[in-house]
Amino acid sequence: MKNIVIFGAPGSGKGTQSDLLVEKYGFKHISTGDVLRGEIKNGTQLGQTAKSYIDKGQLIPDSLMIDILAATYDALGKCEGVIFDGFPRTIPQAEALKEMLAARGTEVSGMLELQVPDEMLIERLVNRGKTSGRADDNEETIKARLEVYHNQTSPLADWYENEGKRHA
Ligand code: ADP
Repeated sequence: MKNIVIFGAPGSGKGTQSDLLVEKYGFKHISTGDVLRGEIKNGTQLGQTAKSYIDKGQLIPDSLMIDILAATYDALGKCEGVIFDGFPRTIPQAEALKEMLAARGTEVSGMLELQVPDEMLIERLVNRGKTSGRADDNEETIKARLEVYHNQTSPLADWYENEGKRHA
C-alpha cells in the first residue's frame, strides 16, 4: 500500500493534484482541512475548537491534529493507497505520521512537493475566496497562513529529504 504526502503552501494546488491521483490510481484522499471544515459544519466541539485557529490562519495544535489524523486514517479501511493532503504541517506531525504508519506495518512512500511563488499564491487564494466560501480565504488571513507555512511547515522539505523521500 502506498502512502503519499502532498506538500506545498496554501493555494499551491494540493487538492487538485490529490484529485488527479485519486482518479488515476484509485487512491483514497485525506485532506485534514476538509475534515476540520466538516466538523465545523456539523457544529461539533472539535469543529468549534478548530474554527478558532483556522479563522486566524493558525495551525490546530499538534496533539489534537495527530489524533484526528489517526482516526481518519483508520476509518478508511483497505485501499491501494492514501494521499495525505495538508498533513503533516509540522515536524512533530511528520514524526507522529512515521510512528503511526510504522505501528500499522507501513510507511510514507514519498513526499511530492509543489512549489509556487508567494505572489501567485496570494492572487490564487484571493480569487478562490470569491467562490470558495472559506472564511480564511481573505487577504489578511492568507498572509498569516503563508507566514505559518514558511515558519512551521517548509522545514519539512528538508526533513523528508533526510528521510530520502522528497520528490519535486
Ligand atoms: P490550505 O492548504 O489552503 O491552507 P487546508 O484546507 O489544508 O488549506 O487547511 C486550512 C486550515 O486548516 C489551516 O490554515 C489550518 O488552520 C487547519 N489545518 C489543516 N490541516 C492542518 C494540520 N495538519 N495541522 C494543523 N492545522 C491544520
